[in-house]
Amino acid sequence: MSYASEVLEKVIRRDPAQPEFHQAAQEVLESLEPILDRYPKYRRNSILERLVEPERIITFRVPWSDDRGDVQVNRGYRIQFNSAIGPYKGGLRFHPTVNLSILKFLAFEQIFKNSLTTLPMGGGKGGSDFDPKGKSDGEVMRFCQSFMTELCKYIGPDTDVPAGDIGVGGREIGYLFGQYKRIRNEFTGVLTGKGIGWGGSKIRPEATGYGAVYFAQNMLEGRGDSLDGKICTISGSGNVAQYTAEKLLELGAKVISFSDSNGTIYDPDGIDTEKLEYVMELKNIHRGRIKEYAEKYGAEYREGERPWSIKCDCAFPSATQNEISAADAQQLCDQGCYLVAEGANMPTEPEGAHIFLSQKVLFGPGKAANAGGVAVSGLEMSQNSQRLSWSREEVDQYLKKIMKAIYTSAAGAAEEFGQPGNLILGANIAGFRKIADAMLAQGLV
Ligand code: NDP
Repeated sequence: MSYASEVLEKVIRRDPAQPEFHQAAQEVLESLEPILDRYPKYRRNSILERLVEPERIITFRVPWSDDRGDVQVNRGYRIQFNSAIGPYKGGLRFHPTVNLSILKFLAFEQIFKNSLTTLPMGGGKGGSDFDPKGKSDGEVMRFCQSFMTELCKYIGPDTDVPAGDIGVGGREIGYLFGQYKRIRNEFTGVLTGKGIGWGGSKIRPEATGYGAVYFAQNMLEGRGDSLDGKICTISGSGNVAQYTAEKLLELGAKVISFSDSNGTIYDPDGIDTEKLEYVMELKNIHRGRIKEYAEKYGAEYREGERPWSIKCDCAFPSATQNEISAADAQQLCDQGCYLVAEGANMPTEPEGAHIFLSQKVLFGPGKAANAGGVAVSGLEMSQNSQRLSWSREEVDQYLKKIMKAIYTSAAGAAEEFGQPGNLILGANIAGFRKIADAMLAQGLV
């Protein structure tokens, strides 16, 4: 049995009820086999055993009172997974499905993603099973204040710097930051995704979506192609989906779908900038459902469906994990889709990813393609440390440069280890090498 398989078996035995974490660990560990075989130092020093074990997991009670005055209790988490190359960094997710397995998978992925960005950031993730949907602003604020009252004991600008994720946007970051500042009496860069007027970076809200599109551009350039005129499907209609659409439109592509957890809209005429503005207002201000788009513009609404049965050139899964099954992947390929850039984290099930690779689809795995968000978070940290604010153009230039560097290092590692074009393998190996070597240099950490 290979070293990677042995470690994976131990992971599954130790925490049998964590399927999402097993899935993420399996995907990464299996693809590391070529580098583990070439360099026995990693096995000799039990690097994998250390890598799959979080440095620290914090769980806590989050009591808050709703608008009726009733007390509600949620569970809060922060996984501080790996600090080999910098302070823990990774988002907070507020969603009813949040549990330890999902957060460990996200934090584990984050280690490699952050390493790929070229910036000094360790890996972490956190959140709560709180559902902001249907809650008033007052309820969300009281929840965030209670959450931060406990979390603030474990984070700090040089220790652990959370950001947003599903269910945590500008509104939530504001409430969280306000409470941190009140308790600690410090105005520091302890969270990223802050508002522009109070320490936020320009382009941070846009960064994950823009970055995913820049990554797609890099993949296409490798084939002498561009996004101009391409028909694109997008899943989700939140932060990542919206800014993926915005950048695609700017580059001349045609966007024909959005979705949410209830269903998909299909607009064969294309979602233009005016329609996109409507989606942004619908989702970010009125917190409505994507179905309302279909009602307004006479587009098709597919209740309970995802966009993968719609014919497209390029697909941008931007909602959540495991939203592309093997059957979806096959259908995408059969209908001529030749590029998939993952804006979401682990949206493609492993069998689906194998199908994309075997059918030579240009496949940008999440930890590479969606790293733009955390990259600009890293730039927000730099600006906060300098007490300076960079221009939109400056940040965008950095973002483009970083996405290119990620593509180049993932493509280079795939080539070096004998599987050109396999960016899953390339991203994992390139991310791993830096972390593992830092851990070796730092002794038994
Ligand atoms: P948002 O909360 O802004 O939007 C999430 C979108 O996905 C919504 O449209 C939501 O629909 C949909 N969605 C969420 N859960 C499910 C589900 N179980 N089934 C179907 N649809 C679902 O989150 P983001 O846009 O920030 O995040 C989207 C993805 O991108 C996540 O995987 C996240 O981890 C990843 N990501 C985000 C980054 C960021 O900077 N924000 C950075 C890197 C990755 P509904 O409104 O119905 O819930």
